Amino acid sequence: MHSFAYKNGLLHCENVDLQALAKQTGTPVYIYSKHTILNHFIRLREALAPLKAEVSYAVKACSNIAILNLLAKHGAGFDIVSGGELYRVVQAGGDPSKCTYAGVGKTEKEIRYALEQGIYCFNVESEAEMRAIDAIAKSMGLKAPVAVRVNPNVEAGTHKYITTGKAENKFGVDFEKIEALYEKASREMPNLVLKGLQMHIGSQLTQAKPFYEAVVKVAPLVKSLKEKYAIEFFSIGGGIGIVYQDTLESGVQEWWSGDEAPLTLNAYAEAVIPTLQELGLHIIVEPGRLIVGNAGALVTTCLYEKKGSAKTFKIIDAGMNDLIRPALYQGYHEIVPVQQHLNDEITADVVGPICESGDFQAQNRVMADVQAGELLAILSAGAYGFSMSSNYNSRPMAAEILVDNDEWYLIRKRQSWSDLIAGESVPE
Ligand SMILES: *Cc1c(COP(=O)(O)O)cnc(C)c1O
Repeated sequence: MHSFAYKNGLLHCENVDLQALAKQTGTPVYIYSKHTILNHFIRLREALAPLKAEVSYAVKACSNIAILNLLAKHGAGFDIVSGGELYRVVQAGGDPSKCTYAGVGKTEKEIRYALEQGIYCFNVESEAEMRAIDAIAKSMGLKAPVAVRVNPNVEAGTHKYITTGKAENKFGVDFEKIEALYEKASREMPNLVLKGLQMHIGSQLTQAKPFYEAVVKVAPLVKSLKEKYAIEFFSIGGGIGIVYQDTLESGVQEWWSGDEAPLTLNAYAEAVIPTLQELGLHIIVEPGRLIVGNAGALVTTCLYEKKGSAKTFKIIDAGMNDLIRPALYQGYHEIVPVQQHLNDEITADVVGPICESGDFQAQNRVMADVQAGELLAILSAGAYGFSMSSNYNSRPMAAEILVDNDEWYLIRKRQSWSDLIAGESVPE
């Protein structure tokens, strides 16, 4: 579900009128619904209640400290992929002992910081990394908690850039090599504690089947590791897909009943619970997109219309530096006018100001025929939206707003031009 809907012809987030809000904040601006974020977090936790699973929010999806703080207050753990993300969690009041740390390229500085903070576990992705963590733990006189990320080699059925559980991906350790690696670690790396096993097969999965297949395939391995090394947890990663199309029309309440959503939370839960329950281990899930994807929108101003000989372009003030999903992996976002239009449709490309042909938010889209000065909302932009934004073309990063019922809070100031050159200098 999400909390964006028209009221009296104006798009609202919860009970905040986005036209009035944008007048104050300027555009482009990211807007998040507190209600939607919490609703998704709590509903997933409830769907997995028989497992008492830990819901560890994948920070990279949207890493603003206000959102981390909100989730921390409701008991979330955090899945992090860098020292910077751990720093954010700590600053936001999150509990490091509920953090799992993934990623193929952890540096010594990051590993030391994570050990100092006392994270729950490193999810290691190679033998070389395991040896590095062992050596660093030794130098600090500590034992480092580790789990290996298994690559189960299953088909996730998602875009190739967000498939992570196939043998050809850089992630994890081959399924067949896991036992040998645990064996080696237990013999040769005395400064490690073998604490669990982790996997993450991809993102934006819209079928339950790959989750089922991966869990069923890996469960016997988990059992064996539990017997031999007394591991205490199994993390099944994130990847639960969300609906990106027609979310307004299908009603704001139950997006997972729409056509694009064969993957309901219940279907997900049913696919994984029986196998996991049998393991008798602490279970962790690491959702990112599910929690924040539909909770956020990017509001932008239509600057110009340009009619080419082949196409009509609606040129907006948000670029691929603000929201890169369409350019990076053909991501689809529903785009709606903030002031509702009733029956003036046009087919257009929605493009940004950046000097790249890849700078579009939609192509050949049937959409409201908005005029210069009107506002558009790019929906379902909460995940991998702001967190992937950059200063490309020397464009200041957008502001971020958290909406709570009829109140809203600036949770990140829009950057200024002087922010762009902060830290730069000209040699004498
Ligand atoms: C990115 C990531 C996630 C979250 O993926 P979503 O598709 O956003 O749920 C979870 N675990 C790991 C290890 C990740 O890299």
